[in-house]
Amino acid sequence: MRSLSIFGATGSIGESTYDLIRRAPPGTYRTVALTGGRNIARLAEMARTLGAELAVTAYEECLPALRDALAGSGIAVAGGVQAIAEAADRPVDWTMSAIVGAAGLVPGLRALRHGGTLALANKESLVTAGPLLMRTAQAHGATILPVDSEHSAVFQALTGEDPSCVERIIITASGGPFRDWSLDRMAKATLAEAVAHPNWAMGQRISIDSASMFNKALELIETREFFDIDPVRIEVLVHPQSIVHALVGFCDGGIMAHLGPADMRHAIGYALHWPDRGAVPVERLDLAKIVNLSFQAPDEARFPALRLAREVMEARGMHGAAFNAAKEIALDHFIAGGIAFPRMALLVEETLSRISTRSDMGTAPASLDHVLEVDAEARRIATAITEEA
Ligand code: NDP
Repeated sequence: MRSLSIFGATGSIGESTYDLIRRAPPGTYRTVALTGGRNIARLAEMARTLGAELAVTAYEECLPALRDALAGSGIAVAGGVQAIAEAADRPVDWTMSAIVGAAGLVPGLRALRHGGTLALANKESLVTAGPLLMRTAQAHGATILPVDSEHSAVFQALTGEDPSCVERIIITASGGPFRDWSLDRMAKATLAEAVAHPNWAMGQRISIDSASMFNKALELIETREFFDIDPVRIEVLVHPQSIVHALVGFCDGGIMAHLGPADMRHAIGYALHWPDRGAVPVERLDLAKIVNLSFQAPDEARFPALRLAREVMEARGMHGAAFNAAKEIALDHFIAGGIAFPRMALLVEETLSRISTRSDMGTAPASLDHVLEVDAEARRIATAITEEA
């Protein structure tokens, strides 16, 4: 029986992971820890159904409600940021890292320390601390598997291939709800319009990041960090149908494309069954019914997040941590109605410019504390910029 924990169980990726675990024949998995945030009723329900050993809420003030909801179940409960980190210290064979934002970094790093497999949906971990994450995995004999659909697709296309023959990696982007919108129209975009992704059902924050292409920007950096490939060899292709998730071009001119339905359970299931393939209950594609698969180059003038990501990949060092932190603050402000949609990219750009005076920006992340320090400074700068405006 394989043991597992799910961090961010109550989110979109967490729900899809839970669905696969719940459907598995009894005795396949033993659930150690499930973590969530404010959705206590759902966290408790999942913990009872899977017979988890521990349920943790990220918010201490939510702990009494979680304790009540699990009274008499025999399931241990805990609350707070430290409790989430400690849950990651419980050794398991397989961990799903699906907390949203930089908050996912610490539990992911701690989980790597006991070996096993880390299924990484939390792309922010690689963006903020890629080299640190990879070093930690190597030091403890842990495996990191990508869960982002594009990166899972690249990983699958690369399996069995000679890395020196890889010419380029192409990740696709649906273009989001504002794919054809002008900048003027985007300036008036509402929260509801930004969240309404045409193809994928995802959490609120990643949906808005898809609309601004900050999600693709994070994924560019994630590709660079995960596959250790020169940034000039990574391309983005807008593909509105979201059927082809990524393509890998080889030195003989051939391209391997990965196709699948827009259902994260494929990539999660792949990471769950790896190194084997196992049946996953996703819709099967009927290519004869898909009339059109179209591709176009992205427009970096309307979606400056992509240009910023290229600059971050070139500069490397601590720039990823600053980029992600500034993006999270910009997103908070857009969600709160404080700034217009296109202003998010300007805020990130200005933060990167101001933080560039730090002498350590070009150095690789030395430690978790180093990453958290740059993250905190970028958040302070981004917040100050919004207050100046
Ligand atoms: P959701 O917003 O749907 O879920 C986030 C999860 O994290 C929830 O369980 C939430 O708890 C919990 N959470 C929120 N804030 C904190 C915090 N500060 N500390 C601890 N836990 C917290 O996100 P998604 O599932 O959409 O995304 C999760 C990650 O996976 C992100 O990094 C995203 O980029 C990545 N990803 C998502 C994809 C998707 O299809 N959704 C695709 C590929 C990658 P609660 O809801 O109970 O408050």
